[in-house]
Amino acid sequence: MRVTRAYLDHAATAPLRPEAGEEFLRVARELGNPNAIHTFGRNARRYLDEAREEVAELLGAEPAEVIFTSGGTEADNLAVQGGWFAASEERPGIIVSAVEHPAVIETAHWLRSQHGAKLHVAPVTSSGAVDLTGLSDYLEADAGVSVISVMWANNETGVLQPIREIVELASRNGVRVHSDAVQAAAHMPIDFHGSGLSALSISGHKIGAPVGIGALLAQREFTPTPHMHGGLQERGIRSGTVNAAGAAALAAALRSAVRDQVEEAARLRRLREQLQDAIRAAVPASRIWGEEEERLPGHLLVSVPGTRSEAVLFSLDMAGVAASAGSACQAGVVGASPVVLAMGGTEEEARSALRFTLGYTTTQADIDAALELLPTVFERARAAFA
Ligand code: PLP
Repeated sequence: MRVTRAYLDHAATAPLRPEAGEEFLRVARELGNPNAIHTFGRNARRYLDEAREEVAELLGAEPAEVIFTSGGTEADNLAVQGGWFAASEERPGIIVSAVEHPAVIETAHWLRSQHGAKLHVAPVTSSGAVDLTGLSDYLEADAGVSVISVMWANNETGVLQPIREIVELASRNGVRVHSDAVQAAAHMPIDFHGSGLSALSISGHKIGAPVGIGALLAQREFTPTPHMHGGLQERGIRSGTVNAAGAAALAAALRSAVRDQVEEAARLRRLREQLQDAIRAAVPASRIWGEEEERLPGHLLVSVPGTRSEAVLFSLDMAGVAASAGSACQAGVVGASPVVLAMGGTEEEARSALRFTLGYTTTQADIDAALELLPTVFERARAAFA
């Protein structure tokens, strides 16, 4: 079997950036718990403080607003569960969009089933953006909402959500807004203060840092109820010895992503369009999800009629191209894409969805490899399925 050579699954996890790997090792080799008062501890604390300052600066926040976590899932849970628990006595309502990642939507369902939260799942339009009129009507009718969680950019389509408008609607009704920016942070500028959000999640391994580090940005006035109890690190919001090496790597990865963002966005958009055009030419009836909206530059979600995602992905992988079907965070199980269904797609469209996500290591050669294979792979998959 040929070894996979074109990695078009950056949204699942990005290759480690050399700067981030070096930073990780540099700090991990040093001894010291950042909470200890001796020289070793103070040394570790210095690395952690520097990472916190840099992450804050790169994302338009203050250092005190950066709460390091183990990743995006933990940051989302802190904001959604913690935000709801902190305000639910007076405001039992919670709103999440229909296209949220499971880290948000499953948490909201759990709050409803186990803790009596009044959950409203805000629908999206057929192009994948939250329906603002519906959201506004809901907020007018229900004064008891504590938190709204709507992602910055979708993990399947890359569609950007109207965060500014959502924050405006919410602030009229005194509601806090959290946004999952796990997919967005590597690809577009994030200005936490400018956004008006109460909280925002990021994840290291989507940016090129190792797995095991992420952060929740939380305004000073927002103190989510912690779900872990212990040594009161991270403003008492997230107990546990902080991963200083991971934090340093996250800062390095983010620095490198932000430095190259403008040129990278243009380059990735060009490559993505080539892929998109070639898929359309091979199967004119294929449907590209979210193309009417502003999208992250490297995301492409497409349904190819008459195929099943797993069959196409398997053939591509055998030939050396790695892609995915919808969300990659479902324990390896390929089901119907929840995002396609939420956008009004059919079961058939949801089961034939393919996600190609490009990132900083993607080259023209990677795209050429995919372009060469796709027509034959689609033809075979359609013939086998017919
Ligand atoms: N949120 C979004 C939008 C994601 O795409 C992912 C992972 O795919 C997560 C959250 C979870 O992040 P992590 O893998 O760091 O827990």
